[in-house]
Amino acid sequence: MSQLQLNLEKAIEEFKKMAQEISDGERQVPISHGNTESVTVTRNKVAAALNTIFPINAATLQDHFINLMPTLAICSSPKAFRTAWDLRSKTLSIHDTEAVSNDGGQLIPVNENDRLLKCEQQGVVLGAEKKLIMAIRHSEGNYDDILDELGRFTYQPPRDTSGMLRYRWCQFLSKKIGIPYLIIAIMWFEYKLSSEINQLFILAPAKIIDFNDDLEDINKAIHHPLKLQLVSRSEAYESINLIKSFGTDDLGIDVRIPISDALAREWSYDKINSTRKGRQIKEWAQKTGKKCPGEICQHKHFSSLRSQDIAFGHIISQKWSSAFTFILDKVHHPDNLYLTCKPCNSSLSDNFPDKTLKTKVSEEGTIGDWIRNFEKEIRDH
Ligand SMILES: [Zn+2]
Repeated sequence: MSQLQLNLEKAIEEFKKMAQEISDGERQVPISHGNTESVTVTRNKVAAALNTIFPINAATLQDHFINLMPTLAICSSPKAFRTAWDLRSKTLSIHDTEAVSNDGGQLIPVNENDRLLKCEQQGVVLGAEKKLIMAIRHSEGNYDDILDELGRFTYQPPRDTSGMLRYRWCQFLSKKIGIPYLIIAIMWFEYKLSSEINQLFILAPAKIIDFNDDLEDINKAIHHPLKLQLVSRSEAYESINLIKSFGTDDLGIDVRIPISDALAREWSYDKINSTRKGRQIKEWAQKTGKKCPGEICQHKHFSSLRSQDIAFGHIISQKWSSAFTFILDKVHHPDNLYLTCKPCNSSLSDNFPDKTLKTKVSEEGTIGDWIRNFEKEIRDH
């Protein structure tokens, strides 16, 4: 069973439990510019909604995102999408198309054979199995018109219980799986390309953001909108690749969810080697009973060593990275580093860790793993 399946099963159980907190009553659902509509939510409707969202397994989840990949090829940059959004018009002029294209936009003609490029009313588009949100359509004049500098926007809540609960489920998945939940944002415009083709589309990938507050009290937040942020195609590809590797049926391999760039820089080799930060890590490792993963010292406890006899080892060595330059910018990443005693580190020299050492490093954790799981403890140390 894959790591993804394990995490998904846990997430489903937890979400079902959370959904039990939803009580019967009216919800004021925002529809447009300060107007709301009263919608009745009942526990029966919640139960029925759960039956439309579940069951779902890791393969379905993975396929959902992998199926987005071909569409990314026709997606635009966040900047171009924003330019199109800010036109605030349903009709495009030649000047408009030029502005959008110059910002890295791709305007795609209507195509009735494609679910995303069809002319339909705005709203949520579900994936193939009708479980998960795949895309959202925005058109000018709806609900909330703000798309801010960072590409963030709020997407209107649905007026039915299963739609509402699906918003919260996608947020919950995003949180529990730890990989950005991707959605394709779509806008369409009137533009006379030929006598047959009167519409152009612009697409961009977006991810679900700011979900913690909504998930804190699902009874209060069930009818809240979805907050999204446009992302680049490369970020979208990266997320999908992560979900792919995360779903591998091999528990011998731990797939690591990336730590943020800021954290990766803050705890990179050059920032922790012989610095106060580095000492914090060493002291924390001593206090928590961590051991050297190396064989030479027979896995000495760091607490039995002096700080200057403990080193930060590289999994892929610095020398190798000069030979294989594609890795150069990652060689000092905290996930390429682990704590070791000096003799074990020197004996490894420029070689890759063998299978035993690799397993031991994985068990004890890379510096990245420690930051992932114990950031606060290490900082407070
Ligand atoms: Zn050692």
